[in-house]
Amino acid sequence: MDSSKPFSTIAADHSSSREPLKVESNGEAAISLQEWRGWGTTSTVPSMVTQVVEDLNMLEKNVDAQMVFGGNHGKLSGDFKVQEDKKHRAKYQSLGDSEQKLQFFSARQIACRVLGSRGYLCQKCWLSSGDCMCSKLITCPLWNRMRFWLYMHPKDFLRQNNTGKLLWQVFGVQAATLCLYGITEHEDMMWDALKLAGKDKVWCLYPNKNAPTNSVKDSMAGLSFANVENHPEMAGGAHSLNFILIDGTWSNSGAMFSRLKDRYKLMWGEEEIPCITLNTGASLMHKLRPQPSWDRTCTAAAAIGLLDELHDLPNFVSYGLDKQAKALEDAVEVLFEALTIRRLRMGKSITRKQRHNRDIF
Ligand SMILES: [Zn+2]
Repeated sequence: MDSSKPFSTIAADHSSSREPLKVESNGEAAISLQEWRGWGTTSTVPSMVTQVVEDLNMLEKNVDAQMVFGGNHGKLSGDFKVQEDKKHRAKYQSLGDSEQKLQFFSARQIACRVLGSRGYLCQKCWLSSGDCMCSKLITCPLWNRMRFWLYMHPKDFLRQNNTGKLLWQVFGVQAATLCLYGITEHEDMMWDALKLAGKDKVWCLYPNKNAPTNSVKDSMAGLSFANVENHPEMAGGAHSLNFILIDGTWSNSGAMFSRLKDRYKLMWGEEEIPCITLNTGASLMHKLRPQPSWDRTCTAAAAIGLLDELHDLPNFVSYGLDKQAKALEDAVEVLFEALTIRRLRMGKSITRKQRHNRDIF
């Protein structure tokens, strides 16, 4: 080990997803549909992701270096990284417009994360197999008129401390659907569903004080579901309330929101996508004991807050949203517990290293 590295750095590192483990490419070239859907997605394998994987495998054949992922999952390392860096930078430069660049950036991120997590992370909970929390999770059906969309930044895909994934773990992938930012297949799938639902059935939860927003009460208190409940033939996507949750770091969320706004405008000609803010945001975050590594936009907390505030409205009171919020809250606790156990386990190894070093000096 590098003894020149201060312990504070090592200690700081263990709260991130850094682990002293290397994942080598196992030679299985493509990402199958089964593998792709196993990670929580509902689309076909994105064609650009497939292309990136093919390019990586081709490069591995052409250069004398094995594809190795180390440190943060999805980050290439060693000689292969040097070669691939040159190649992907050249490719990025060659792309004509910012849209193509974004799509390539997203596809490369996703491809590397999937390849680097293969055989290491549990596909369902995105924790390493030894930390898997799946057996402790309790699922709960979401009220069938509601649908969440997890609009996720590629850098948050397969992150162990991501809380957006908890939504589909608890409610299922049809009630809480992953939409990866910059992945055409995902974005088209989401916007097709939103188009079917209609522009008055789409809201974005965006905690930006500068964007024009309404409270849950202002946006939702006037809605009536009696008509829908009495006409089962009207069930289906067309009458769902769609809530888009931006699942990315604070610094990425601005670009993600702009992209949503642009697409909304393109589809419906409106300048502003309807946004709602939560009253309980701050106190709920406090209640959930946010970790130092957590961004201020905790996605599951936003969903819990929304469900709780909706439940307080007379027109929503009979759909069990309070229980659904509780189920998600329990899942967040399970994730915290799993992350804490993991940190303690990694903390122990640091203590051993410290003791070892003290012996040397
Ligand atoms: Zn698991």
